[in-house]
Amino acid sequence: MRMNGKVAIVTGAASGIGLEIATAYAREGAKVCIADISIDAAQAAAAQLEKSGATALAIAMDVSNEQAVDDGFAQVAKTLGIPDVLVSNAGIQHIDPIENLSLENWRHMLAIHLDGAFLTTRAFTRLVYPTGRGGAVIYTGSVHSYEASLLKAPYVTAKHGLLGLCRVLAKEGAKHKVRSNVICPGFVRTPLVEKQIPEQAKELNLSEEDVIRKVMLKETVDGEFTTLQDVAEVAVFLAAFPSSALTGQSIVVSHGWHMS
Ligand code: NAD
Repeated sequence: MRMNGKVAIVTGAASGIGLEIATAYAREGAKVCIADISIDAAQAAAAQLEKSGATALAIAMDVSNEQAVDDGFAQVAKTLGIPDVLVSNAGIQHIDPIENLSLENWRHMLAIHLDGAFLTTRAFTRLVYPTGRGGAVIYTGSVHSYEASLLKAPYVTAKHGLLGLCRVLAKEGAKHKVRSNVICPGFVRTPLVEKQIPEQAKELNLSEEDVIRKVMLKETVDGEFTTLQDVAEVAVFLAAFPSSALTGQSIVVSHGWHMS
């Protein structure tokens, strides 16, 4: 049990990577808040975790909404206790070449990925700094925190931006014992990725199989998808790491797609 008694908030935890991280944290003994824009899915996920004996709280939270984030964190503090770990993970994808991208879609992407990371980080620091107990913030970045791909301008921009936020928090949070790191997965088969396979096939005039083989996994060392379990294992490692030796870093989990 590497996270016994810890309180963790995971955003976008009703599906995919966030759900797997929340499940792994619960398995390691943490009390987990499933924060998601979809309350029904969050409640279903929390109920599933509770069935296995974990303590889980579902919260409706649009991470781009200041009030929703602040209220959600207050509710977690009241119900589960002051959080020890934040995983800022909620995210979506939008596929468009720059010349067709609307300002509305650009802003929507940056609002979820960057406003969301900022607002949840700020709420976390406001609760955690006064305790002097410290904690860990983990951002779900991406290989797209380092690499660019066609059709993904706002996503790539936002994921690069998370590295900056992480590094500032590492510096500012040090005196409060708050560590800050980014996980950068390669492609993982979640609903977010399943949705973009046909979209990319259409935009790039390729078959769906070729999108997977020639676009998504082309640069990996072995043509393999990264798994949910791979990412969750790194998230446990970062949350449970015992000192501030590991802060301001990013860990790329991508079958060698990006090597840094
Ligand atoms: P997913 O679609 O399975 O899950 C995303 C979750 O975020 C959903 O439950 C959704 O309801 C929630 N969400 C969406 N908008 C929200 C908002 N405004 N506020 C709160 N919750 C919101 O996707 P996923 O693949 O698990 O993605 C999770 C994170 O991992 C994202 O940040 C994504 O960019 C990142 N990521 C994914 C991959 C991949 O290949 N799947 C690779 C690298 C990084």
